[in-house]
Amino acid sequence: MVDQWVDVCVVGAGVAGIACAQGLAQQGRSVVLLDRLHPLPAGLKAEKIDADGVTALVRLGFGPTIARIVTPLRSVTVVRGERVLGTLRLIPPEASMHYADLVNGLRAQLDARVDFRPGCKAVALAPQADGMAVVTADGARLVCRLVVLTTGEARHLLEPLGARYLPEPPHQTFAAAFNLRGLLGGDRPVDSQTYHRPLPGTPVAYATFFRLGSTVRANIFCPGPISAAWQRDLKDRPLAVLSAGNHRLAAAARDWQITSAVMTRKVQVARMQPPVCPHIVALGDATHTIDPAGGGGLTFALTEAELLVQVYAPRWFHAGAFSAVTLGAFYADPRRTAAVRRYFGAGHYIFALNHDRSRRGAWRRLRFDWSYRLAAWRGSAALLPAATWQRPAPYLYEQYAPDSPPGRGPTRPHSAKRSM
Ligand SMILES: Cc1cc2nc3c(=O)[nH]c(=O)nc-3n(C[C@H](O)[C@H](O)[C@H](O)COP(=O)(O)OP(=O)(O)OC[C@H]3O[C@@H](n4cnc5c(N)ncnc54)[C@H](O)[C@@H]3O)c2cc1C
Repeated sequence: MVDQWVDVCVVGAGVAGIACAQGLAQQGRSVVLLDRLHPLPAGLKAEKIDADGVTALVRLGFGPTIARIVTPLRSVTVVRGERVLGTLRLIPPEASMHYADLVNGLRAQLDARVDFRPGCKAVALAPQADGMAVVTADGARLVCRLVVLTTGEARHLLEPLGARYLPEPPHQTFAAAFNLRGLLGGDRPVDSQTYHRPLPGTPVAYATFFRLGSTVRANIFCPGPISAAWQRDLKDRPLAVLSAGNHRLAAAARDWQITSAVMTRKVQVARMQPPVCPHIVALGDATHTIDPAGGGGLTFALTEAELLVQVYAPRWFHAGAFSAVTLGAFYADPRRTAAVRRYFGAGHYIFALNHDRSRRGAWRRLRFDWSYRLAAWRGSAALLPAATWQRPAPYLYEQYAPDSPPGRGPTRPHSAKRSM
């Protein structure tokens, strides 16, 4: 088969790949975008996106899809344990959607200059004299100057190139999600309700309920070790489990009815040490899986895509330089490393808020409560003190082995000195 030459081949048409392909095509590059699955099937992934993520997509010209697909979330009631910390306005609003709807909607609205090839799987990469060839399952070879790997958690293309995935605390998160019929906020309706540490002393760290179209979506996150019994209970009777340990939740859930199957998923939290090879750059979930309990995966991927499209790709094409060292500057960019700290940090924070039984943990929860109370009193989440989410607890993870034997009931740090 004859090789086809293009400037860029983007492998993987999730949000990260779509953003890269769209942005590079708008700059006049010839771009092929491949995905092995089309349409993307529904699954348990990404239901909330913050305002930064929404505006990044709008900047790429995806405003009409966003307007059609997302549900704006303008208010949230925040509860920690049994304490209602307040109701905050979200200005600008967050948004909810089904990830598959978002991705399929964006694919349908791609710039006509993007050569999108649905159902096309990349199976190998082969170095060429002045580029890299992407070999597809049907035997085609696309030779390009830049390969952008946005293959999500599929690591088969990156590991043979020398990429190493390093587990990150809390190593894994168990997620359960379902739809329900019911009201949020009773006689003072809100768009979302979040419960931090709803069942102290258990693996359940965070439960969030929010409007998604005409239904209410529930997402429950358990970062860290979790026993098979907890997994089963959360899958079989999630509302009963939550209500049994939390009066606030029991009162809210009295009139709720689950209207879908309960989906569960275990996410391995990890960061990639990038491969050192010319002509290939990777981003999005291909390079890091953050803890979904902290949220922000979509915005993180879009931040990287924007950095690549606006700053690095134009530089590389202008200089005609695609060496491993040149490309390595992308991974080391301070904006990217700050995003790595921020988004992994949010997951660390949720974990520590739930599990840290030390004096520092009690202090952390106190700060959390007062930050939210103050912001609620002032009326807006935008007025949360900047430091609220920026205090990871590295000391805490030393107390957890990645594969702690799961037991029934509370998980607790081995050397906890004090219980709350
Ligand atoms: C349970 C869960 C809940 C989450 N909740 C949120 C949330 O509420 N908010 C948030 O912001 N983030 C959330 N995230 C994170 C967010 O979903 C991801 O960060 C984001 O989807 C990453 O996008 P991506 O484009 O990098 O990867 P993906 O969306 O995984 O896209 C990868 C694409 O590559 C394709 N592909 C893979 N291999 C090949 C190949 N060889 N050839 C061709 N195509 C290939 C796949 O078919 C897929 O379409 C959640 C994640 C999980 C797991």
